[in-house]
Amino acid sequence: MNHNFPIKSMQEAVMREGCAVKLGLYIHIPFCRSKCSYCAFVSAAPRDDQEMDRYVNAVMTHIRASSNMARNRELSTIFFGGGTPSLIGGKRLALLLECIFETFSIADNVEITLEANPESATAELFQHLTPLGLNRVSLGVQSMHDEELKQLGRIHSVATVERAASAIREAGIPNVSMDLIFALPGQTVRRWEDTLQKILRLTPDHLSVYGLSFEEGTLFHRLNQKGRLEPVLDETYVRMYNRTRDLLTTYGFWHYEISNWSRPDRECRHNLIYWNQDEYLAFGAAAHGLFDGIRHAFISEKETYVRFHEQHQKQRDRLYFNPELLAEYKRLDVEEMASDVMIYGLRLIKGVSIDRFINRFGYSPRDRWQEAIDKFERQNLLEQKEEYLRLTPQALLISNEVLQYFLD
Ligand code: SF4
Repeated sequence: MNHNFPIKSMQEAVMREGCAVKLGLYIHIPFCRSKCSYCAFVSAAPRDDQEMDRYVNAVMTHIRASSNMARNRELSTIFFGGGTPSLIGGKRLALLLECIFETFSIADNVEITLEANPESATAELFQHLTPLGLNRVSLGVQSMHDEELKQLGRIHSVATVERAASAIREAGIPNVSMDLIFALPGQTVRRWEDTLQKILRLTPDHLSVYGLSFEEGTLFHRLNQKGRLEPVLDETYVRMYNRTRDLLTTYGFWHYEISNWSRPDRECRHNLIYWNQDEYLAFGAAAHGLFDGIRHAFISEKETYVRFHEQHQKQRDRLYFNPELLAEYKRLDVEEMASDVMIYGLRLIKGVSIDRFINRFGYSPRDRWQEAIDKFERQNLLEQKEEYLRLTPQALLISNEVLQYFLD
């Protein structure tokens, strides 16, 4: 079929690919036991069990009200993110999973991910979830040195990480990811490499490795503003990143996204939905979704989100996109969607498929961004390999400088 003609709406772009397009589902759990020094996410400690029960009930009410959203579509991924989803315990998470299964069609090979922190990743937690198909855990490790964990404001120790890793393996979870942070204030390249070596002994299938940034609203940002906490030198940052790439490649990991490495066939399929700008529904306070060409986010005020669902539990004409619950609702036009596909897709080491881009939008990236692409190719920051346009290795650490040119 020849799609090489302009299209007018986002719906048309979605329809061209039809039901074959993957559909994900994200649930946000906005609870954490305490606040880490570098964290700008929406999360707070739960007051008591009742607060967590009410939140889970509200999310289930929202899910049931949205059964019409994915007719004729199967969920290919389910992701519990936060916050600290493992904190609410196996019984509540199992209720949420059962509610999803009752409401939507589920693909046979669905990927179900739980973000967990070491102190709450226990055998008891997994007893509730592995029978329901939990098959991926993303463990927030961050460092394998106790004093660095303390500096980050984490409440776990290296010993807790090791216990959690054993519990996950004993539960038979086939895909285990671990999150790490490098470029901590005062950290040396050797110290960082030591964390990597120690984490590799725990045999993860996937690693997400991010450089520390000083986000506004965090303790680290305030200390930095007062001159009491300095980031590592740029040169140290680059050496740490390059060392990560070399070491993980040596150990058989595939570098598939700027900050993510996996064993063969262990990429995070849910995050690939984000990077490919496929569709995903979202549930919970502060959860973000993309569906039917509409980028949306729900309000971050937990109590308002919960009360709304408590008051509208019996109402039949409730909607997924309820105006009272939305903090953002933006119908993307085709040009905006095409920009997002470039900006997110170029984060993938493989790059953006030009064929798929043409199929979705009716023109090639070169038709719209010829000047920028030529310039970056001359500077050896972008290259085309077969049907993929991608960043070169030397562009990975300055990706934002390249990506901003695809904003419009
Ligand atoms: S556990 Fe994660 S989400 Fe919670 S405060 Fe720490 S970094 Fe933020």
